[in-house]
Amino acid sequence: MSNDSLEAFAERKLRSLERRHLTRSVLTIDRVEANRVENEGDALISFSCNDYLGLARDPETIAASLAATGKHGVGAGASRLITGSHSCYRELEQSLAAIKACEDAVVFGSGYLVNIGVIPIMAGQPDLILIDELAHSCMRSGAALSRARVVAFGHNDAAAAARLLETERPRHRHCLILTEGVFSMDGDRAPLPELARLARRHDAWLMTDDAHGLGVVGAGRGSTFAHAVPVDVPLQMGTLSKAVGSYGGYLCASRTVCDLVRNRARSFVYSTGLPPGTVAAATRALEIIVTDAGRTARPLKLATRFCEALGLPPAESAIVPIVIGSSEDAIEASRALRDRGLLVVAIRPPTVPAGTARLRITFSAGHSDSDLDTLVGAVRELGLVRTAARDHHAA
Ligand SMILES: *Cc1c(COP(=O)(O)O)cnc(C)c1O
Repeated sequence: MSNDSLEAFAERKLRSLERRHLTRSVLTIDRVEANRVENEGDALISFSCNDYLGLARDPETIAASLAATGKHGVGAGASRLITGSHSCYRELEQSLAAIKACEDAVVFGSGYLVNIGVIPIMAGQPDLILIDELAHSCMRSGAALSRARVVAFGHNDAAAAARLLETERPRHRHCLILTEGVFSMDGDRAPLPELARLARRHDAWLMTDDAHGLGVVGAGRGSTFAHAVPVDVPLQMGTLSKAVGSYGGYLCASRTVCDLVRNRARSFVYSTGLPPGTVAAATRALEIIVTDAGRTARPLKLATRFCEALGLPPAESAIVPIVIGSSEDAIEASRALRDRGLLVVAIRPPTVPAGTARLRITFSAGHSDSDLDTLVGAVRELGLVRTAARDHHAA
């Protein structure tokens, strides 16, 4: 049987992406050390990994993973509500709840699964969801699945959120406010104290996605702890795949809310539990995060020095964007850095808004001072920051 129309359809879609310099391809990258990678025979220093603390290749997390695998096997065997909740989970969920100062925690298969599972439980048709316009794709997916009315507010604009609450909140039953703690493509932080105050005043529920905050800000405990007093956020989610170096996602909340989530989140109920080794590695990584203050401070320290050296606005996290503008120019800049032994992947629409294609640089505790110097030298030599600033003003 022929599938001509399917082939033609795929071909047409791909050509359209190509014309706009938006084609993506899956690179084969082997990480040989925390920040050294190999791709097509080239050895590169990576400034694109989210393994902010080098814990994905730490001897202690590897040992914890091997021990748990030896004891419990490579797979969970079922969803957590059937027989897949092996004993490694208990310790991990207790550690997460303790770090976030919450009563309880629920671990999911990934961060993406947390957002698409939890958001539709907390809001439905008669409800309102206010979401930061730059919040991650999986928060938007969760909001779309909820069938609540979804309204975006300007990025980090608490005053805009306040205006929407004034006019829209009274017409809806419940209201959920969604934002990231540290924004994944911009590296800046949300005004959490202001948003928490608004949520209290308008009887709304604040939910934060701290995928890039845990392990890096707030002495490693994440965005809600990066303020004079910890911010009261009743729904805190994040991932175990970035600074924690392993895989999986979590929600930290009250015991009652977590009980509801374990009962109702479809991506929890109908998806297989994580492998024991993955869970044990995350638990060991969290122990390192709460005890090794030098390690958790390092990524932000490197990002700060990078921004100072190049006259960029002060870093607020391990992520520093250099906005280039067009997708074509961003790819060209990435290629030029690669020629100098540096892996900095270009980020293009729809991951970022049109016209803001960028180099997204991530710093890790595994980078040496000389890695930083090499990057600063290359960015200067290529004039990337100057070009970026000019294009930014022109836009
Ligand atoms: C990576 C990321 C996620 C998804 O987490 P995974 O565990 O990789 O599925 C969610 N939110 C943000 C902001 C992220 O950057």
